[in-house]
Amino acid sequence: MKMLLLGKNGQVGWELQRSLAPLGELVALDRHSTDDHGPSGDLAQPERLRDAVLRLRPDVIVNAAAHTAVDRAESEPELAHTVNAVAAGVLAEAANAIGALLVHYSTDYVFDGSGRAPWQEDAPTAPLSVYGTTKRDGENLVRASGARHLVFRTSWVYAARGGNFARTMLRLAQERERLTVIDDQWGAPTGADLIADVTAHAIRQTLRDTALAGTYHLAAAGETTWNGYARFVLDTARLLKPDLAFKAQEVAPVPTSAFPSPARRPQNSRLDTRRLRHDFGLTLPDWQTGVRRMLAEIL
Ligand code: NDP
Repeated sequence: MKMLLLGKNGQVGWELQRSLAPLGELVALDRHSTDDHGPSGDLAQPERLRDAVLRLRPDVIVNAAAHTAVDRAESEPELAHTVNAVAAGVLAEAANAIGALLVHYSTDYVFDGSGRAPWQEDAPTAPLSVYGTTKRDGENLVRASGARHLVFRTSWVYAARGGNFARTMLRLAQERERLTVIDDQWGAPTGADLIADVTAHAIRQTLRDTALAGTYHLAAAGETTWNGYARFVLDTARLLKPDLAFKAQEVAPVPTSAFPSPARRPQNSRLDTRRLRHDFGLTLPDWQTGVRRMLAEIL
């Protein structure tokens, strides 16, 4: 089996390089995998992307690339639209043309964040931001293409590699006596490693049973706020590394309005993952398990 992975160096893309490797031959590209002769992995050039797919003829395309800079997207909506929507549609059309399975990722930001109940897959979308709108448009283009697809909506993604929320909290707790962290946005921090592992299982099962294709919510179990997440990070870090010199005595709860930002974010990012767990027979561990593991790796 041949697989084409786009966005190989992102949080999820990096973990997919590991999790997809046992499934077959993997061609992994990033935006810089572009020259006059080789295949292009640049989602800002959808036509070249189409050529790459038609030339490589993979059995599975996994699109982990996206314009994920949520605030920046507000000031560069055309680029966000091209990368998150147009390119996803082109990938889906090309996948349909060659009979490939397309795996694509989307976000809790397609919802408006109202209420307290976890969002189900068929709940109406109403994005609050350019990023959310372009991701919603991308999903819709994938679904409209006729391509066999798996769309995974996930939330609050972190990885051990690169910068992340936990690293920021650990640094600030060493610099400041008091941290203020938002406590009115709810969701589940979800490890890129979990997303990649679930993706590999789902690909295997969907190739055997195409009725499994569709849209799924994929997030770690449980829920918290950014404030609860920060407190868990610092408490766990103290246990894992008692010699860490934290100045911070307090992680004070503040509303979202305390940190004005260009993009609006949903308050309720809870995702209902029953469909994924039921259809694929998978268990999703609670969010603390993955965060604890990530901290053990980075500390
Ligand atoms: P990252 O930002 O870590 O990775 C995205 C990757 O896409 C980066 O490697 C980036 O490259 C690449 N990329 C950006 N623009 C282009 C382009 N024009 N051509 C090719 N590659 C490009 O994101 P995640 O791994 O966290 O996200 C994976 C998926 O999950 C995305 O679909 C995202 O929308 C979704 N998601 C993410 C959430 C999160 O909290 N991060 C939450 C919910 C959903 P470069 O580094 O060079 O910019």
